[in-house]
Amino acid sequence: MVVNQRADLHTHTLASDGTNSPSAVVRLAKEAGLAAVAITDHDTIDGWDEALAEGERLGIEVVPGVELSTVMNGRDVHILGYWCNAADQQWQQRLQSQQGFRGKRNVMMIEKLQQLGIDVTLDEVITIARKSGKQADSAEQIGRPHLAEALVVRGVVSNTREAFDRYLGENGLAYCNPPRPLPFDAVDWIRAAGGVSVIAHPGLYGDDDMVEEIVRHGAQGIEAFHSDHDADQELKYAAMAEKHGLLVTGGSDFHGEKRGVVFHGPLGHRSVDVTVLERMKLLITR
Ligand SMILES: [Zn+2]
Ligand SMILES: [Zn+2]
Repeated sequence: MVVNQRADLHTHTLASDGTNSPSAVVRLAKEAGLAAVAITDHDTIDGWDEALAEGERLGIEVVPGVELSTVMNGRDVHILGYWCNAADQQWQQRLQSQQGFRGKRNVMMIEKLQQLGIDVTLDEVITIARKSGKQADSAEQIGRPHLAEALVVRGVVSNTREAFDRYLGENGLAYCNPPRPLPFDAVDWIRAAGGVSVIAHPGLYGDDDMVEEIVRHGAQGIEAFHSDHDADQELKYAAMAEKHGLLVTGGSDFHGEKRGVVFHGPLGHRSVDVTVLERMKLLITR
């Protein structure tokens, strides 16, 4: 019998925008026959403790990770970090500031709407977010869909699409995008916290020169295998990683189901041989 020793190195939980609890994601990984699963929520490590405990209980390796949001050339770029030291205070502060961006942006957009004569308030948007089932009590926990809903409820627009077209989309009157760190910063932060950095889903950026620039800055791996990559992209990025002597990683980017639709891919949809973890662990510096 051939034992399937696979690792899915990219998943999300309720700690960010996934729909399953950290322990549920670990359970699903075990049921999918995986030998290891990484928890890589957006800009937070809040899911780690629960996931690690469940992994211990079920006998599946849980890799503690994070997916940092950065911007370069006007594009959102994600950098994965594995095994960063949770006790490192500077690292904790950096994660805090990452979460602060989301809140800052929401507050800025509400202010712009008010300047346009629309009296929408943060409390009102939080109430709307809660009604949709989201546990929200601050500006960091709401998103543009909730702002859009508030504009519909107020009768400013007739539907959320119009809310994005006129106000909240990239060309909207109230759109804001406060400056975010560069991918280079994320790579530096992960290194400073003793972790291993990997460029997430490079095929989604449409800018391979930028990807190579991040590699030259010191990223340690490339996520060649991803649910949104086609076969050609997988080969191309695996070759790029090998050319630079970097890790070739992969994962599903599982977010759970939203209204019956699986986003990005089901758990284990993309994976790598578990031996990749051995190579990754050699790069941990804490
Ligand atoms: Zn991503
Ligand atoms: Zn992701």
